Amino acid sequence: MSEAREGKAEKLHRLLETEGDAVAENTRGFNRGRYESTDDLPAYEALKDEARAIKEDAIERLPELIEELREAVESNGGTLYVADDAADANEYVRDVVTERGDRVVKSKSMTTEELELNEHLEGAGVDVTETDLGEWVLQIADEAPSHIVGPALHKSSESIAELFNAHFDPDPPLSTPKELTNFARDMLLQDIEAADVGITGANFVTADSGTIALVTSEGNARKTAVVPDTHVAVAGVEKVIPSVEDLAPFLELIGKSATGQDVTSYFSLFTPPIASPPVAFDRPDRPMGEDPARREFHLVLVDNGRTAMREDEDLRETLYCIRCGACANSCGNFQSVGGHAFGGETYTGGIATGWEAGVEGLDSAAEFNDLCTGCSRCVPACPVKIDIPWINTAVRDRVNHADGDGSFDFLVEGLTPDEEPGGLAPAKRLFGNFETLAKWGSRTAPLSNWIAGSRPARWAMDRFVGVAAERELPAFQRRTLVDWFESRGSCVAPEDATREAVLYPDVYTNHVAVERGKAAVRVLEALEVRVVVPRRTAVGSGRAPLSQGMVDTARRQAERCRDALEPELDAGRDVVVVEPSDLAAFRREYEKLLPAGDFERVSGSSYEVLEYVFGLLENGADEGRLSAGDDEPVDYHAHCQQRTLGLDEHTVAVLERLGYDVTTSDTECCGMAGSFGYKSEYYELSMDVGEPLQQQFGEDERRVLASGTSCVDQLEALLSRPATHPIELLAPDSSAR
Ligand code: SF4
Repeated sequence: MSEAREGKAEKLHRLLETEGDAVAENTRGFNRGRYESTDDLPAYEALKDEARAIKEDAIERLPELIEELREAVESNGGTLYVADDAADANEYVRDVVTERGDRVVKSKSMTTEELELNEHLEGAGVDVTETDLGEWVLQIADEAPSHIVGPALHKSSESIAELFNAHFDPDPPLSTPKELTNFARDMLLQDIEAADVGITGANFVTADSGTIALVTSEGNARKTAVVPDTHVAVAGVEKVIPSVEDLAPFLELIGKSATGQDVTSYFSLFTPPIASPPVAFDRPDRPMGEDPARREFHLVLVDNGRTAMREDEDLRETLYCIRCGACANSCGNFQSVGGHAFGGETYTGGIATGWEAGVEGLDSAAEFNDLCTGCSRCVPACPVKIDIPWINTAVRDRVNHADGDGSFDFLVEGLTPDEEPGGLAPAKRLFGNFETLAKWGSRTAPLSNWIAGSRPARWAMDRFVGVAAERELPAFQRRTLVDWFESRGSCVAPEDATREAVLYPDVYTNHVAVERGKAAVRVLEALEVRVVVPRRTAVGSGRAPLSQGMVDTARRQAERCRDALEPELDAGRDVVVVEPSDLAAFRREYEKLLPAGDFERVSGSSYEVLEYVFGLLENGADEGRLSAGDDEPVDYHAHCQQRTLGLDEHTVAVLERLGYDVTTSDTECCGMAGSFGYKSEYYELSMDVGEPLQQQFGEDERRVLASGTSCVDQLEALLSRPATHPIELLAPDSSAR
């Protein structure tokens, strides 16, 4: 392994060892909670649409809404300041604070993390105390947050007890979560009462009334806002929404998306400046601040790159984010290593690449961008339907171009018919050009397989290209699926066919997993579909370069694939796809890569193979022609992208209809994620992500099924037994031509 890759692998290893268990327990718990609470929500999709529409409108009309907000805040008696960048915002807040004292309490503001406001205030002699419990823990530990919603989620309660006991030396020492919380509450209340200024963030700010909405799981944020005489709210400009009524869908969605809570513990609305609160419930007439005239409110809206993001076609959607953290909680890699690996200077998790690229710059985003595998599991989790994988792909493409130094990638030269810049990481270039590698591998098999498996070749691949030595490499077949079909032809005469379909020979099915391609042909023919597998359609979909952030190359391949499929579509054939990630390219990413009409045509005529079989059976095809299950128990793991598209249910339905007793996996990801698990620096992480799958399926000897190529490879590595594509199970007669 190269030094750079070794450094990355070591960092991941350390985080897996030290923080992995706490991160996994908390994020998986939040993620499970999200499924449970949203399952009970009949209007979930409609609410998401509503929330997205509000954000789309707000970002579109942002300058106008900010002016409306200014009027509202000023007529309430407050001040609105729009800061261009971090320095501008810090200076304004520092002036407000130092004119009023030197003690600040602060709560609930990622934006102030982005500004590094604490450091700035402390440099001006101000004493800053975080009042959010997690942030306070991190302030004491002198650590950075690891999650947008749960900043100290990487710490167990035992480690927090250890920290508090060492730092405060309480007598008796603290141990239970309740003792820790009570101790923190008492300490923080003293600081809040003594503070000159309270600083908070804002989850939403409404332009119509100047209302600040704070969503929290503790009461300290509202105390911070209302107890000190001066309240400063610091928020990104994107937090502005038109009206108080617009808060409704977010109120419904945010707690469920973040932690799985049906209703968040605290949802506070302030239209400041507001009257001083009473000191205690038994003295309700005595306000905490004696002089109502001293109440002050400053709203600081921070731009810091957001206006540029608004103009940026790829990054604009990032501004719709409501920072719920669901994308992090649903991400297999994040569940294993957390935000100290999967994050930049400020933001962590799936959407962090967009934030970091926008507010901190490409360098910060580049540090962790590769941890997004594009599996797309965050897409249905996001309450505002942001296409997070696409943002990550677009940023990866920019990072690739920024890295271009014209260096000569000698090991993969000749295998790279792309137009990407020199200096692109060799592993990316190799995996991005898998189609060429596969053609070369099939033409020269079995020699190519023997050479690739030899010890010197594996060492060189690990050292120079970054292919993990621990991984079994795909074995290329001399006789491809297209070769086989050319010599065999179709077994269903046109006059006997109920439908005609082209089986798309994706790179893997054509060159490596030929048997599953043959099985797919036999299953479809058994159901009276006339199948063709023309040589001209044996072209890459663009999926491989896309996952490496090679967008120009992916676009070129998508256009070539469209050209190859067009004659089939003209002939009225359906397109049947075996590899789910290729179908996901047709149905999702082609929208970004092809003109709208072409995208609609290809995506509208393409089907995942078991989805197609399901449709045939539903429409009267004879299931008796397929191989029956006779109650055989099988374990099934659906592919990530297949699940995002909602297609896993078809496979389960077909298997059950044919008499198989199916147990489905309940993990987000197998950990392999295409080329990700093959990369040396990510091998250990890939296996760790797969561990829950190993725990679920590893105990018994049931047959294991998986829809994706990389899932099959990973399951075989995790379970040390073979895994198969479900279509192979259904094929009526494997000895047939
Ligand atoms: S991108 Fe979506 S899921 Fe992720 S934090 Fe933002 S709103 Fe939540």
